[in-house]
Amino acid sequence: MSVYQSLRLHRPLTQSLFPKLLPRTRTYAATTAVSVSPRRICTVSCHSVAHATTTVPSPPDGGEQIVDDDIFDAPRMKMLKQKMDLLGIKLDNTCVPALYHNLRCPKCKGGRSKERSLSFHIISDCEFAMWRCFRPECGWAGRVFADDMELDGKVSANAKPYGQTTEKSLGLEPLGPQLLAYFKERLISEKTLSRNAVRQLSDSDDKKVIAFTYKQNGLLVGCKYRTVEKRFWQGKGTDKVLYGIDDISHASEIIIVEGEIDKLSLEEAGFQNCVSVPVGAPGKVSFKDLPPREKDTAYQYLWNCKEYLDKVVRIILATDNDQPGQALAEELARRLGHERCWRVHWPKKDESSCFKDANEVLKYMGADALKRMVENAEPYTSAD
Ligand SMILES: [Zn+2]
Repeated sequence: MSVYQSLRLHRPLTQSLFPKLLPRTRTYAATTAVSVSPRRICTVSCHSVAHATTTVPSPPDGGEQIVDDDIFDAPRMKMLKQKMDLLGIKLDNTCVPALYHNLRCPKCKGGRSKERSLSFHIISDCEFAMWRCFRPECGWAGRVFADDMELDGKVSANAKPYGQTTEKSLGLEPLGPQLLAYFKERLISEKTLSRNAVRQLSDSDDKKVIAFTYKQNGLLVGCKYRTVEKRFWQGKGTDKVLYGIDDISHASEIIIVEGEIDKLSLEEAGFQNCVSVPVGAPGKVSFKDLPPREKDTAYQYLWNCKEYLDKVVRIILATDNDQPGQALAEELARRLGHERCWRVHWPKKDESSCFKDANEVLKYMGADALKRMVENAEPYTSAD
């Protein structure tokens, strides 16, 4: 067992970890350190414990420890940030390596008192990040390595399985006026939002976060979050399944779209037999042969829904009208069988552009127009 595998995070954070983990970052003499803003290591969004002198010993030369700005552009740090983002842990530039930070836990949100209960640490060379929520009711802990292709399996093992998760335990609440207005502007009705159990994250911040609940057989199996500024992330432990899978359990004809809001849009046009892919479209179509099921990681959600999809006779692909959307349609058709697939063509918006997706058509042309477009889907051809 490596030294890192034996590391555990505790509350209170003990100094015992530091002799092993103390960074070999640059240190400056006190005279040169005056220009360093204290905000660098302690802000509202990432409450660092670095200012607690008991937890961070001074470098031996008595200088103040600062961290190079370049660290945030380093490939490992970038990779860690991306991975943490997927887990719902938001890092900003104050979350410097080698220090401990108290963050908001994405699993329990810090409970009723909303304390920053997640002790978070990136080791000094950015090899990995680790964390533990010190609220006993939660205890979420894990670790990810920058260089691994996959998130560390231990992360999932430590996370609460979604089968036992409820909307309440995720901190979800009914949509408030702000987000209802956001959806109204997109012509998504409260009835549709309610039937699809669209929620919001309860949070004291005024930035509202939409929570698309993923359900299978009526059970919560995952959650995808989206801010109104179009930032997405997935709840930890989320099953890779299509969004709205229960809506196609008895369907012989289905529609696949590229986003949750497009699924809701099609419901406004009268189609409930619609599912959305859970992740974004690929940049381009792969030229390689289809990988075997177990290696087809980017499309695991299709394999996980195989029994639903196998019995479908006709599949209408209504992905976005851009290059990634077309690449997604092709990748789906490759896996589902071109002969079963049909394609919706989004109409021209003006001389130079086309409508982008189902929601845009709903918004600018109305539900009837959207319905007609789906009904006029054409047999899929790869040359699309
Ligand atoms: Zn927690």
